[in-house]
Amino acid sequence: MIISIVNQKGGVGKTTTATNLATALAACANDVLVVDLDPQGNASTGFGISQSDRKSNIYDIFHGARMDGVIIKTMIPHLDIISANINLVAAEMELASVHNREFVLKKALLSVSKKYDYIIVDCPPSLGLLTINALTASDKVLIPMQCEFYALEGLSHLLKTIELVRKGLNPSLTIQGILLTMYDKRNKLTEQIEDDVRAYMGKLVFKNVIPRNVRISEAPSHGKPVMIYDHKCSGAISYMHLAREILG
Ligand code: ADP
Ligand code: MG
Repeated sequence: MIISIVNQKGGVGKTTTATNLATALAACANDVLVVDLDPQGNASTGFGISQSDRKSNIYDIFHGARMDGVIIKTMIPHLDIISANINLVAAEMELASVHNREFVLKKALLSVSKKYDYIIVDCPPSLGLLTINALTASDKVLIPMQCEFYALEGLSHLLKTIELVRKGLNPSLTIQGILLTMYDKRNKLTEQIEDDVRAYMGKLVFKNVIPRNVRISEAPSHGKPVMIYDHKCSGAISYMHLAREILG
């Protein structure tokens, strides 16, 4: 099962969700691969992968490298990663002139998809060719959404893009769910946005929400997912609940 974590907005919790959901799935005895598809490389940093350990990375995959040369193990059992660094910025432009440019990642992941129960793709904050590659390669898309005033506006544009990909490139793509992140119960606006999103999107919204939790924001600077940094905090527990909701 390949799941892309997508939202064209930055700072909504994509990378936090990719790293912690992947860790939670691995903790439930699944073999998991994280694909860092953002030139900022935040998911790689979140797992404590140093720049020198990123010499072979996702950029090479877009230039025909074999998967076994770029996959590295994380500190977490059952959890591997393909890292990213700033070189990936160039891939977005170089892809433009490649034949079947939307299918490069899909073809590459095909060679390892049997090895993993879950492949989680952390997308950049845009709907450019990298994200289109992720959507084309995926079975499902998970949309993290911060409970803020403009959230719904961005959502309809994203849903249109997913529909276009489904029509033209990947008919079997479905929405796994919309995840409310940085959820703050004490904020009246949060409640109102949640009501709106649940009214508009119905069952597509995950039951579990991710609370705003300072431990979540501290964890990446220690090179650890929050589930390892502090497995008892509310953030870690909420990502475990999300994994269970997905596992069913
Ligand atoms: P994106 O990948 O969409 O740009 P990130 O996952 O990097 O978003 O999150 C943006 C910032 O918000 C990061 O500094 C992250 O640590 C912080 N953050 C994400 N989720 C939470 C949360 N639930 N509580 C507190 N801080 C969070
Ligand atoms: Mg990110």
